[in-house]
Amino acid sequence: MKSDISVKLRPHHSMCIQFFVGNGYSNEFVERMRKVIYFLEQNDPFVILVESSDVICTECPHERNEICENEDKVAAIDCRCKIAAGIGDAKAIRWSELKKTVNERIIRCGKLSEICNDCCWKKICTDAVTILSSGNIEDVLQKSSDFYGEEPH
Ligand code: SF4
Ligand code: SF4
Repeated sequence: MKSDISVKLRPHHSMCIQFFVGNGYSNEFVERMRKVIYFLEQNDPFVILVESSDVICTECPHERNEICENEDKVAAIDCRCKIAAGIGDAKAIRWSELKKTVNERIIRCGKLSEICNDCCWKKICTDAVTILSSGNIEDVLQKSSDFYGEEPH
């Protein structure tokens, strides 16, 4: 079902979501991730790309007064993500299109490691990419899809 409701998202979260299998900064954060991903997958809303706190950051312990305490680092990842995905000029884009674009232009092209250079979760995501490049891409995507495909409590 398509929704006319829009969701604010930092560009790099369109990558993180595709590797989310339940890890996060706190229980509240993990639950928030699950709810946001469930909504995106069920409703395919327009995503408004933002350079500030988004719908996921609101439950993050690293957000202070709507600003990420690692803003410089995160902004740099956002910037690299937008350039690599070719979505620098996009203001609003359907979730399904954003997910597909990032998947094709970053994840499947082996650019994740460079873009996410200094992220603390990098090992989890690059390990998944290694599995992807070994030919089992559908297994990893299915694992992620199975997890966030369940309706959150
Ligand atoms: S390495 Fe970090 S920024 Fe990159 S996709 Fe994974 S969690 Fe997101
Ligand atoms: S670390 Fe920063 S960008 Fe990432 S979810 Fe938390 S507040 Fe948002």
